[in-house]
Amino acid sequence: MKLTEIPVENLPGVGQQRKENLSELGIESIADLLEYYPYRYEDYRISDLTRAEQDERVTVRGIVYGQPSVRWYGKKKSRMSAKIDVNGIHVNLIWFNQAYLREKINPGQIIVVSGKWDRHRLQITVDRTFLSQAEQEKHVGRLEPVYSVTGSVKVNGLRKLIHEAFIRYGNRIEEILPEELRRRYKLISRPRAMYFLHFPKGREEGRQARRRMVYEELFLYELKMMWLKKQARMENTGIAHSFAEEKVEEFIDRLAFPLTNAQRRVVQEILADLRSTSQMNRLLQGDVGSGKTVVAAIVLYANYLSGYQGALMVPTEILADQHAASLKQLLSPLGLQIVALTGRMTARERRDALGQIQMGLADIAVGTHALIQKGVTFHNLGLVITDEQHRFGVKQRATLREKGEVPDVLHMTATPIPRTLAITYYGEMDVSTIDEMPAGRQPVDTYWVKKEIWPRIVNFIEKECRKGRQAYVICPLIEESEKLDLQNAEEVYGQLTMALAPIRVGLLHGRMSSAEKEEVMAHFAANEVQVLVSTTVVEVGVNVPNATVMVIYDADRFGLAQLHQLRGRVGRGGGTATCVLVADPKSETGVERMRIMTETTDGFEISRRDLEMRGPGDFLGVKQSGLPEFKIADLNEDLRVLEIARADAQELVNRPDFSSNPETRALYEYLQEENLESKSFD
Ligand code: ADP
Ligand code: MG
Repeated sequence: MKLTEIPVENLPGVGQQRKENLSELGIESIADLLEYYPYRYEDYRISDLTRAEQDERVTVRGIVYGQPSVRWYGKKKSRMSAKIDVNGIHVNLIWFNQAYLREKINPGQIIVVSGKWDRHRLQITVDRTFLSQAEQEKHVGRLEPVYSVTGSVKVNGLRKLIHEAFIRYGNRIEEILPEELRRRYKLISRPRAMYFLHFPKGREEGRQARRRMVYEELFLYELKMMWLKKQARMENTGIAHSFAEEKVEEFIDRLAFPLTNAQRRVVQEILADLRSTSQMNRLLQGDVGSGKTVVAAIVLYANYLSGYQGALMVPTEILADQHAASLKQLLSPLGLQIVALTGRMTARERRDALGQIQMGLADIAVGTHALIQKGVTFHNLGLVITDEQHRFGVKQRATLREKGEVPDVLHMTATPIPRTLAITYYGEMDVSTIDEMPAGRQPVDTYWVKKEIWPRIVNFIEKECRKGRQAYVICPLIEESEKLDLQNAEEVYGQLTMALAPIRVGLLHGRMSSAEKEEVMAHFAANEVQVLVSTTVVEVGVNVPNATVMVIYDADRFGLAQLHQLRGRVGRGGGTATCVLVADPKSETGVERMRIMTETTDGFEISRRDLEMRGPGDFLGVKQSGLPEFKIADLNEDLRVLEIARADAQELVNRPDFSSNPETRALYEYLQEENLESKSFD
């Protein structure tokens, strides 16, 4: 039987109660138990006191001299002290609230204690005491694993249980990595690595164990990715779109501007996917303003020419309306029906829209996640595009994918991720990148100023508006408790309304209803309102070309990606645009972010530096990204390993004898057992 199939209650001492407690930690089987790794170790190796630093944790063995003495503070609190001789050094020991030890500690006895070292007083504040020979043999001289536990499971008990599991089942741990890979990277065997992760004798053993398991974990993850990708390519279950190339070219020729080379290239990549029999799963990344919308329009048109419906999914209602409008402008003249489906439609409008979608009268449906709710049925969905896909969970995308038979899927994002990270992070997706801005686009002039010159910023806004331009003023969302030290959007709005009259100021924030938001946006788009004070609702995708000023209040409260997105809202109509970051950053990193923003307007460069500052784990926001939470690997440290593992995995799955070669057989079987259908890392 496999260790994954042997329940923990097979171990002695695990009854119903214990079993339930373990289950709360996600431990059901012996395999779960063995893979429940410690997050750190207590070091009970004997220290050299002559070298120990102040406040360092030390473990010493010494001979007790004199009787321990206890002082009581009330009934419960006590302070006990004793003296021991550690290789000639007379050390004071202090125990708090462990007076019961006094009876057990006698002059002449050899004890081992562990605790915090005060080198000035030659004193240790003890937190672990090993009295008996047996206890000392068991614990001293090694690193003890510390596990994260909750409720009634205690670290000590878990440690014993894991030890027991190794004794009984350790010999059944099977190697999964081919010899060849283990030799290439000098990796220790799986059973040894697993044992040493729990019970290393020293740091080096622990390191080797970690190295081995990190590689394995990342390799298996990438293997799944590569396998999925290969399956998808071989399955041929996708729609083979067939359309007249000339018609698409004609459409491109009739656009108001020539496409950039990058746009042409990605259009070709996507069209090739549409034609192919395998299902497209492609990421299109391009900096803010690089022109992704028109690319979407082109491929939606090709999809329409092939006889299929398309869907465009966006994160906010404002964007849904805006995109519907842009698509109508581009595609209505060619006879396409475009329908917007949003949450705020009346029941009747919604029914109408749904009917059109279901009957195939609507060629393109644009909407928020309302698009993937139950009750939305497409006539024949051939292509799904999600804009700013990082706003959608993996699950939502999967649901939508399941709507049609097997629509091709394109995800667009303006948060560029450095390429190495992108291909790894997006695992089984193909990646297209628009790495070029439309000609004549001028970088947004960016300044970082202190809050004290706010009055001058107000003057600047006024001057620009007089010239017929428009401005955004962004204030970060704030929590109740912070209200006092932060100006919120409402205050700024009130102040600007008075200071700028008769220039009109609008306010947009997250607590407004969709209809209210839209109204404000519409006024701003029509230049009936010149200044828009907003929380970050305008962050993604909003397009008002006449807006040339972006003021971001408390800019240090935003991350780089968000600042860059916000800045991308201006300078979209050609001509010069200005971004003013108003901030008195309190942290190093805040200062650094302001500096980066003023130094470059290149989104890829910004994300590269963001990645450098934060590390990939934080950068991607592992929790909401759909990336698995690895048990031991840490992307901040192990990114390089991930890349190597990916290359190895790719090479391996493509071997003709992958499934039959005894060396790779275990991996093949692993893939069969994993439920890969639902993209199981979801
Ligand atoms: P994003 O990639 O941020 O979604 P958009 O698609 O909204 O960018 O495009 C930004 C602006 O650039 C739009 O006003 C669009 O019409 C314009 N645009 C797109 N492609 C080109 C091009 N090749 N030449 C000139 N302007 C372009
Ligand atoms: Mg866009």
